[in-house]
Amino acid sequence: MTTVDLKTLQQEVSLLRAEGKYKETIEACYNLLNWATELNDYKAMLTAHINSAASFYCIGAIEEAFQSIESYDEICIKYGDEADALHLYNVLFLLYDYNKDYEKAKETLSKSIELGMKLEKFNIVSNGYSNLSHVCLAEGNYLDALAMASKGLEMAKLHEPQSRILELRVTLNIAQAYIGLGNQGTSKQLIDEIVHDPILDSFIREKSQAFILQGNWLSKQKLYKEAFESYSYAKELVESYNDVYLLKVIQEERSNICEKMQDIQLGYKVQKEYISLLNEINERELALTALKLDVTHNLSLIEKKANTDYLTGLYNRNHLETVTNDWLRQAYENDESIVCIVFDIDNFKSINDKYGHLFGDEVIKEVARTCSSKIDDNEMIGRYGGDEFVIVLKNTTLDKGKNRAEKLEKMIRNLQIDRDGSMISITSSIGVTSNSNGSILTFNELFHEADVGLYRAKKKGKNQIYVTS
Ligand code: GH3
Ligand code: MG
Repeated sequence: MTTVDLKTLQQEVSLLRAEGKYKETIEACYNLLNWATELNDYKAMLTAHINSAASFYCIGAIEEAFQSIESYDEICIKYGDEADALHLYNVLFLLYDYNKDYEKAKETLSKSIELGMKLEKFNIVSNGYSNLSHVCLAEGNYLDALAMASKGLEMAKLHEPQSRILELRVTLNIAQAYIGLGNQGTSKQLIDEIVHDPILDSFIREKSQAFILQGNWLSKQKLYKEAFESYSYAKELVESYNDVYLLKVIQEERSNICEKMQDIQLGYKVQKEYISLLNEINERELALTALKLDVTHNLSLIEKKANTDYLTGLYNRNHLETVTNDWLRQAYENDESIVCIVFDIDNFKSINDKYGHLFGDEVIKEVARTCSSKIDDNEMIGRYGGDEFVIVLKNTTLDKGKNRAEKLEKMIRNLQIDRDGSMISITSSIGVTSNSNGSILTFNELFHEADVGLYRAKKKGKNQIYVTS
């Protein structure tokens, strides 16, 4: 894998996400992240985290999205630039908004606005204010909603080149805030201005919002027939991009209006449509839940595969290293002792030579099975490679570690491995060491010390234990 390959992986991730293939995006991000970490490429790590966060969000896996965004944040603080921070705020806002955590949502938007101002990116600032206004509207705080949206309009006007749609988006918020405040005159004036703007023909989402707002206004004036028409038109527009949640809001409004008009026949028709919409939403949510489960299941499989030695099912070297490094750091902080036992089968080559490589594999698997059966929560066993294994023990002394090694050595010596009815036995050599009162802080150093012990045990005639300290 080279930097060029990494670029290709990043492009693949962006493409998959743009195509709405969220499951595939998440898996590709996982792969990208592994390679990016290997190559110490922080930009690529950021790409992986932000795309998986956004994809998790799209399938409703909010907890996982938060996890990805936390990892993104950690890297972004150290290595990211301002554009990276803006991406962070965008996704974070969506997550808080989804959770209806409006305080955090507003905090995030304020940061985004502040940064946008600094960079003089007025479109970002204006969108930030528009979203702030949207949050205030959701809270029913119309005065603040109006203030934020007005600020958004001011900022939209600073954007170069002039962008009418940017202005129109915040104007929608302003009109909605005026309706909330009971200022029917100003809201009407604004809504008329918006719905007649030809630019809406190119922005269908904004167009549907404009007609929903018009329906809202008309309904407040008790002009039910006209309001129903506005909502019906908005419904047609929303159906074209099938935002089922927005359709649900519209259908609820249409149904209310039917009740107010006491039009039973029309009300019945709307109810029928509403029920079929609810069914569709239900089916979608079930499908999303299934997809979410599928993605998390797949990820845990991928992760397990990445951490596991294919022959024995024990942890591999990579995972041993990652976890031990964590343990060593914790042990250093808590003044605890960590022990490392490294063991290797004696004369394994001759077993391979005598009985064949496949039988050799069986011997390795048997040793793994036996030794892993006695591993508890404070310990971790892995295959370092070939016929060499490692056990790391948390919170234990060198003496206890030596004791453990003696039991291990005996267990291996007592193994009877069946080969076509005749029993084969083996011995092992073992090196034991500890983190020396916190002076060893990495797996590689710790392993090296124990491996020196193992080398001495072999030198001294094998089938024995050597402790280094
Ligand atoms: P020593 O007592 O000094 O440990 O000698 P040894 O014969 O056990 O040799 P050593 O540990 O240095 O080498 C281990 C051998 O194991 C080398 C390699 O051919 C063989 N080996 C490595 N991986 C596998 C594997 O997955 N399956 C099998 N069957 N053999 C392997
Ligand atoms: Mg060996």
